[in-house]
Amino acid sequence: MKTFQQSNLLNSLPKQFFASLVKKVSLSVANGHDVINLGQGNPDQPTPEHIVKKLQEAAANPINHKYSPFQGYKYFKQAAVDFYEREYGVSLDPDTEVAVLFGGKAGLVEIPQCLLNPGDTILVPDPGYPDYWSGVSLAQANMVTMPLLEENGFLPVYETIEPEILEKAKLMFLNYPNNPTGATASLEFFEKTVELAKNTNICVVHDFAYGAIGFDGQKPISFLQTEGAKDIGIEIYTLSKTYNMAGWRVGFAVGNRSVISAIELLQDHLYVSIFGGIQEAAAVALNASQQCVEELNALYESRRNVLIEGLKSIGWDVRAPKGSFFAWLKVPEGYTSEEFADFLLEKAHIAVAPGVGFGHYGEGYVRVGLLTSEGRMQEAVERIKSLEIFK
Ligand code: PLP
Repeated sequence: MKTFQQSNLLNSLPKQFFASLVKKVSLSVANGHDVINLGQGNPDQPTPEHIVKKLQEAAANPINHKYSPFQGYKYFKQAAVDFYEREYGVSLDPDTEVAVLFGGKAGLVEIPQCLLNPGDTILVPDPGYPDYWSGVSLAQANMVTMPLLEENGFLPVYETIEPEILEKAKLMFLNYPNNPTGATASLEFFEKTVELAKNTNICVVHDFAYGAIGFDGQKPISFLQTEGAKDIGIEIYTLSKTYNMAGWRVGFAVGNRSVISAIELLQDHLYVSIFGGIQEAAAVALNASQQCVEELNALYESRRNVLIEGLKSIGWDVRAPKGSFFAWLKVPEGYTSEEFADFLLEKAHIAVAPGVGFGHYGEGYVRVGLLTSEGRMQEAVERIKSLEIFK
């Protein structure tokens, strides 16, 4: 059998850092260990029943057995518009300011290809969600990272970016509530961002994947709530986390119409839109009672409290995340993030994600997902305590 060579484009894609973590965890499980896996970002709860029921019903409707309209059904775009109006007081036009996405990841990877030419500059947060890098590579763009430091609340400081870079940059990714740090953004920060973008050629893409998850009574704000945001950028929303629909692959982009039409143009060439049954169920998710979302938020908050209070009680100096379903924990002195993650897996059978996998400035931290029961969280704390490293 012949082996065909992969294209230079594929060969230039970033290596999947976390593939090795998955392998290490599987090996540990295969060796009979009861691993508490806090390393991944896959919601553990099922999709609420009323959404599943809608899909079951919609699957039987022959209209959904046909190709759906290339740019998605109008009722789904309208549902996204109604959701933004109700949740954030943001008004959008369903015809020109909403693009349907196969999940947030698809949109995030497509956008650099929509707006950048090879060699163009894009600003990306470090640490950050690794899939941003995939879109940058596919567009053959030049990535410049913006450090997210604890002393700055894990927000980029625009004043520290070199003026030539700001002048050249065409795109910027932001993400709050943030993966991996759990930080949230203020309206003031978003206002600064709009101001910067107005004075440059930067299009801002705000990844609002964890928009529904905010703690201590603080609802995360949408970038589009900032005055003028629609003039200079878009927001990507996904149903994956809000409604535990990660496997369904559905989301949408909202905001600046030139960017929305660029996304729709690329997608016209790549796909036919999402299965109609999923669009029907997603519309129901967005506009039925949001009690399920409140309950989910409360569940993550109590898991967060169990974890953070537990870790503090055993002497680990940790900080509580304000949003997302991740905690970003400083590793004890003497370990790199990867060494510490390996140590926890080997000695306590707990999997966490080494911070360096999210970028250079992720070194010194590990990311812990709040995606298992309070009981298992408590057990993780007990196992770490028994290692006696925080005395
Ligand atoms: N953005 C961030 C920061 C994420 O953590 C994720 C998923 O983990 C996504 C986007 C993509 O989510 P999805 O493609 O399921 O919508």
